[in-house]
Amino acid sequence: MTKIAFIGLGNMGGPMAQNLVKAGYDVCGFDLVPEALDQLEQAGGSKAESVAEAVQGASAVISMLPAGKQVESLYLGDGGLFKTVGSHCLVIDCSTIEADVARKVGQQAEEQGIDFIDAPVSGGTAGAEAGTLTFMVGGRAETVEQARPYLEVMGQNIFHAGGAGAGQLAKICNNMLLAILMTGTSEALKLGIDNGLDPAVLSEIMNNSSGGNWVLEKYNPVPGVMPQAPASHGYRGGFMVGLMAKDLGLAMNTAAGSNTATPMASLAENLYKIHSIHSDSTLDFSSIIQLYDSVR
Ligand code: NAD
Repeated sequence: MTKIAFIGLGNMGGPMAQNLVKAGYDVCGFDLVPEALDQLEQAGGSKAESVAEAVQGASAVISMLPAGKQVESLYLGDGGLFKTVGSHCLVIDCSTIEADVARKVGQQAEEQGIDFIDAPVSGGTAGAEAGTLTFMVGGRAETVEQARPYLEVMGQNIFHAGGAGAGQLAKICNNMLLAILMTGTSEALKLGIDNGLDPAVLSEIMNNSSGGNWVLEKYNPVPGVMPQAPASHGYRGGFMVGLMAKDLGLAMNTAAGSNTATPMASLAENLYKIHSIHSDSTLDFSSIIQLYDSVR
């Protein structure tokens, strides 16, 4: 059985690893949180005590970590994985990180003869569970084809965006737009609620009108409107405010580098910064609607 090492079994990595188990792969996971390892074991995978143990004999390594600094320290440096995994091993990083860091990791992989792609995802925890994620991939075309069988287990759409780091650039553009959509949709819903409209009725009207968008379709920020959305579960278990703030920071840095005007994203970034100071940054990012309550 082909062995896959999966590093980072959080809200996204946990269900992605479980889908690989269901598809018949021998998945050995590592995470800093013991409960995350137990969940993988209960789903039929195995748990490792260390990254080194997880990657032993693996044909592929997949990582799903919070940010660039964790990815850099996993792969690069003296104790980094690129020193221990052989050139037979395919490495796929699915975390959302700086394109520069993805390029640096990709470059070092190439120097060591290791096939590496950056493959961040979209689709949220529901997409991770259902195996319907969208992958935005950066790297060599041959490596993307090599990774395709694994990616197809976890996702439905696989886009090759370009060379190393291109997947991260596409992801940053997407999440910048998502933050604008979430803040704008929250604002419109709040205006309706404050003027006596039923948020479920208003959501249906807007979603079938020119204001329709992914947030209204799949991720309504008002509790009770969508039973499966994080808003209906105390804003738990989705995409954390702190991670959205990180992605907006990545977008702002990228925009500064290319001298691109991003006024809407700049406002969204500030709203998320204020929200993370006044609220719990581990809540789902749709909790931004609560900020509109606090500014009355
Ligand atoms: P999470 O915090 O739930 O999971 C991250 C996991 O990594 C945690 O379990 C943590 O313990 C583990 N971890 C951290 N450092 C580690 C290390 N050194 N070694 C091993 N494990 C380590 O976050 P998440 O929501 O799963 O997001 C992961 C990545 O996916 C982020 O880059 C995020 O931006 C991106 N993403 C998230 C979503 C979403 O809806 N949650 C959607 C798309 C992309």
